Amino acid sequence: MTPQKSRPGAGTAYDNARSNDTPIDAVLHRLDRVKRTAPDKWIACCPAHDDKRPSLSIREADDHRVLLKCWSGCGAAEIVGALNLDMADLFPGDRRSLSGHGTGPMRRPFDYRDALQGIAHEATVARLIVEAVNRGEAMDAESLDRLALAEERIDDALRAAGGVQ
Ligand SMILES: [Zn+2]
Repeated sequence: MTPQKSRPGAGTAYDNARSNDTPIDAVLHRLDRVKRTAPDKWIACCPAHDDKRPSLSIREADDHRVLLKCWSGCGAAEIVGALNLDMADLFPGDRRSLSGHGTGPMRRPFDYRDALQGIAHEATVARLIVEAVNRGEAMDAESLDRLALAEERIDDALRAAGGVQ
């Protein structure tokens, strides 16, 4: 008769995963200039190219998989290789045997979700720069360049979507 607030089944898998080095920990430990931007999201400098600015988005999915995306175009395999990890390290232990995800031959000419995530990444970078300025840090040339790059990337996304008339 006691009211139960906890969701049935929630907790155990999560707690077990947390007791070990989770994929997200393994990845974040190896990256430079990591900034958390949401409970399950970070940005960092991409290890796979000469990245002085944070081009890499990192996200932890609900199932503890780590999703990596370099907005300069590096592939997940290159990023993982640069971290001395392999693709299996992006998956929690019980999913390590995943091989060849069958995405099939379907090709989309333009991935709107991908483009919007890129724009969200650029907005996050812009926010972090504004926050730094707000704290009294000087707006340096690198930050100005980074803002210009954000504008450029959003513009590219718009163009790729066929939105420029
Ligand atoms: Zn990269």
